[in-house]
Amino acid sequence: MLKVDLGRLDRLRRLRLDDEVAPDDPIWAGSGLNLARPLDVRLEVQQVGHDVVVRGSVAGEVAMDCRRCLSPVRVPVGEEIAVLYQPGVTRTEAEESEVYPLPERGRELDLSEMVREQVMLAVPAYASCTETCRGLCPTCGKNLNEGACACEPAVGDDRWGALRKLKSE
Ligand SMILES: [Zn+2]
Ligand SMILES: [Zn+2]
Repeated sequence: MLKVDLGRLDRLRRLRLDDEVAPDDPIWAGSGLNLARPLDVRLEVQQVGHDVVVRGSVAGEVAMDCRRCLSPVRVPVGEEIAVLYQPGVTRTEAEESEVYPLPERGRELDLSEMVREQVMLAVPAYASCTETCRGLCPTCGKNLNEGACACEPAVGDDRWGALRKLKSE
């Protein structure tokens, strides 16, 4: 799962890696991501000299809450991937240059950390159920998309302002 046999890649020079990562896969542990369906991973892995180039895309859906009314929303996420794995790169260097460290020959290359990072970059900070979501009443908590509540408009509300203006004229 998301692993490349580097010996095999050395012989073939190019491999396809098409996979699905389940929502409960351990690679999401601690990421705060809540996948609504398995992530589709379509990658081509290519040996270029001593480096390994990984290109392709990931696509899926994450479950989030609407920022206004807190109802569940499924947000599509998709990301084009083009990353480089280089031998002899330390983890710190890798973080600074966005190049990933390539393990020694004869070992496996695990792409799961990179895939997790790419998905996290693709997920928006906020989700909305609709563009016009009315959110929740700050007083009673009713979902205002389902209709108005019985609360009076808050002090300073424009509606009362207009009324006061009428009265004073
Ligand atoms: Zn909403
Ligand atoms: Zn209310």
